[in-house]
Amino acid sequence: MATDFLNTPFMTSIIDTCSQIYQAGWAENHAGNLSYLLTEEEIEAYIGTDKKVISSRKLEVPCPNLSNKYFLVTAAGSPFKNIIKEPDKHLGIIQINEDGSGFDIIWGFRGNKRPTSELPTHLLCHSERLEADDQHRIVLHCHPDYTIAMTFMHELDQNAFTKTMWSLNSECVLVFPEGLGLLPWMVCGNGEIGMETAGKMKEFRIVIWPHHGILAAGQSVDQALGLIETIEKAARVYVVTDGKRKQCMTEDQIIALADAFHLNVRKGIVME
Ligand SMILES: [Zn+2]
Repeated sequence: MATDFLNTPFMTSIIDTCSQIYQAGWAENHAGNLSYLLTEEEIEAYIGTDKKVISSRKLEVPCPNLSNKYFLVTAAGSPFKNIIKEPDKHLGIIQINEDGSGFDIIWGFRGNKRPTSELPTHLLCHSERLEADDQHRIVLHCHPDYTIAMTFMHELDQNAFTKTMWSLNSECVLVFPEGLGLLPWMVCGNGEIGMETAGKMKEFRIVIWPHHGILAAGQSVDQALGLIETIEKAARVYVVTDGKRKQCMTEDQIIALADAFHLNVRKGIVME
């Protein structure tokens, strides 16, 4: 593996993103995790055939459709704020094995670290997003304050939540015309929430976990982070205008935006 591996474009962008998320206050303590699917070009340029297996692990939920794919993953229990200081400890690269029953660690996780406990959720989400979009690359989870706050103040109905978001800022329907996925509160870190989240990812790039945080998927680190920033801005406006709102964008205004930008807006949320 190339010795300048830490300076590759994808490594620097992921390390920067983890720092930005920490600085935004969305990855307190050990919160936040991320997984990035390496492209064929990145594997060829930076990994090639020079691959050494550090250790191997089994997956609770096999993922045969991710067979042989490589992912850069954050480590379990690793604060986002520390990733920039010791990336080879708090990040690692895994390769899913031939039958999808486990994976090999081929770089990083120094000091016997292991991938995030949310890895099964991430892999299930990658599987679903790749079915929907062959350019899909990243799954990112963090705890944006106002998005979480909104899940205490707004009814937890997916369509109603989406409509409110679209009515808070003109950008919202432009950035996520497909809407957003919203789960009921569930225990995190187990297979059930992983399956439910991946189910939502068949249709959405954003899934909100009430009273906990958000998952975003995208074709790039910037796209996934941009989705979270857009949601968080709207949620912030929702919270700070609580009890003071005299109006929001109307359904007609949302439809006018959708028409002007030729968007394929999710049906059933605003009247058409
Ligand atoms: Zn979390």
